[in-house]
Amino acid sequence: MGNGVLTVSYIAAAILFILSLGGLSRQETARRGNFYGAAGMALAIGATLLSGKMGNLGWLIPAILVGAAVGWRLAVRVEMTQMPELVAILHSFVGLAATLVGYASTLDAHTVFEGAELSVHRTEIFVGVFIGALTFTGSLVAFGKLRGSISGKPLALPGRHLLNLLVILSSVYLGIGFVGAESVMAPLLPLLLMTILALFIGFHLVMAIGGADMPVVVSMLNSYSGWAAAATGFMLSNDLLIVTGALVGSSGAILSYIMCRAMNRSFLSVILGGFGTGGTTSSASAEGPQGEVVAVSAEETAHLLADAQGVIIVPGYGMAVAQAQGAISEITRRLRARGVTVRFAIHPVAGRLPGHMNVLLAEAKVPYDIVMEMDEINGDFPTTDVVLVVGANDIVNPSAQEDPGSPIAGMPVLEVWKAKTVVVFKRSMATGYSGVENPLFHKENARMLFGDAKKSVDAILAHLPS
Ligand code: NDP
Repeated sequence: MGNGVLTVSYIAAAILFILSLGGLSRQETARRGNFYGAAGMALAIGATLLSGKMGNLGWLIPAILVGAAVGWRLAVRVEMTQMPELVAILHSFVGLAATLVGYASTLDAHTVFEGAELSVHRTEIFVGVFIGALTFTGSLVAFGKLRGSISGKPLALPGRHLLNLLVILSSVYLGIGFVGAESVMAPLLPLLLMTILALFIGFHLVMAIGGADMPVVVSMLNSYSGWAAAATGFMLSNDLLIVTGALVGSSGAILSYIMCRAMNRSFLSVILGGFGTGGTTSSASAEGPQGEVVAVSAEETAHLLADAQGVIIVPGYGMAVAQAQGAISEITRRLRARGVTVRFAIHPVAGRLPGHMNVLLAEAKVPYDIVMEMDEINGDFPTTDVVLVVGANDIVNPSAQEDPGSPIAGMPVLEVWKAKTVVVFKRSMATGYSGVENPLFHKENARMLFGDAKKSVDAILAHLPS
C-alpha cells in the first residue's frame, strides 16, 4: 500500500473517531457512535497491517488474534457492574504499552536519529514512559479499589505534596541525564530510575483518593491513558496514534473537569491526588446517625405509590446489581397509565461509571424525556409525594450537606429527604461505596424496604394494578 493510501486511511479513521465521540455524547446516537469507533479502529489496524511498513507479521498477526480472542471473551462475559474495573485494567495496558515502547525506542533511537533530532526523540520517550508508568500503577490501584480488593479508604502518606514535588524535580534531573547521554546503554539507567519513581507516584496518587471520589480518578486515568497513547505515537512516528491519543486524552480531561464540577472538587487537587481526605470525623459520624429506622412492606409501598401524584425514582449502583431496571420500567409504565407523574433523578456519579444509570434505563426502554439530570430536578423534591431510592446510597446522603467533617462533605447530592415520603430499597443498613453512614435512613419521612431491589420491585408490581 502506498503512503498516500495509508495517509487517506488514517485521516478517514481519525474522522470516524471524532464522529464516534460526537455520537457517544447523546443516548439516542450512542449506538451509531460506537459503530463509528469500531469501524475507525478496524480501518486503522487494517491500513497499518497492509502498509508494508510492518515487519515480523508472522509474530504480530497471531499476537493480535490471541489478544482479540481474550478481549472478545472478557467483553462478552463481563457484567455491567464490572465495567469500571474492566475500563481501569484496560487503561493500565495502555500505560504498560507506552512504557515498553519507550524502552524499545530508547535502544534503537541512536540508529535512526542524531544531534538535535535525537534529543527531541529522547524527550518524547522520557515523557511517554513517565505518563505510561504512572498510568500503569494508578490504573492497577483503581482496578483494585473498584473491585474491592484494595480498601476504598484513602491512604495519605505524610508530606505527600512535598513528595510529589521531589519526584517531579528528580524526574526532571534524570530527564536531563537521559536526553544528554552519549552511548547506547547510558540513557537506560536514568530511564529506569525515573520509571520506578513514576510507578511509585501512580500508586500513591490513587491510593490517596477516597472512595466517593473514584469516578473523577477513573476519568482522569482515562485521560492519562490517552496522553500515554499519544506519546507512543510520537515515539513510533505514527500520526494516527498521536491524533487518537490526543482525542482520548482531551475528552478524558474534559470529562474529569465536568465530574469535578459535579462533585464540587477542584481539578488541581485531583491531579495532585489525595483530595477528599481532608475530612475529620465529626461528632455526628462518630456517634452514628440519630433516630429510628422504619421498615415498610412492598404492599404498603404499592399503596403509597397508588395514592401519589408525583413520584421521583433515584436509581443507584444497587439497581445495577439487582438488574431491577426492567421491573422499574414496568412500575413507571403502570403509574403513568394511572396519571401519576413519574420522573427519574440521575446523579452524575450514580453507579460505578459515568452514564451507568442512563444506559440501564435506556436498555429498559424508559422514555428519555422523564430521565432528569441532578440540577434539573433537585429543586422538585419538596413538592414530590414519594421518592423511590433504588439501590442508591452515597448520592442521597444528607451528611454531604449537614456534616462538614464528613469525607463526602461538599459533594452535591440529590435532596430526596425533602420529599413527603422516601422509600429506600436496599438489603441491609450497610454503607455505600464511600463507606460513610447515611442519616437519611433515620429521618422521620424515610421508610426502608429491605431486600434485593428486583425482588422488592416485583413484589410491588404484584400489588399494583396493571
Ligand atoms: P452506593 O455504592 O453508594 O450504594 C449502593 C447501595 O446499593 C448500597 O448501599 C447497597 O446496600 C445497595 N445494594 C447493593 N446491591 C443491592 C441489591 N441487589 N438490591 C438492593 N440494594 C442493593 O451507590 P450510589 O449509586 O448511590 O453511589 C455511587 C458511588 O460509587 C459513589 O460513592 C461514587 O462516587 C462511587 N463511584 C462512582 C463511579 C461512577 O463513575 N459513577 C465510579 C467509581 C465509584 P446493601 O448492601 O444494604 O444492599
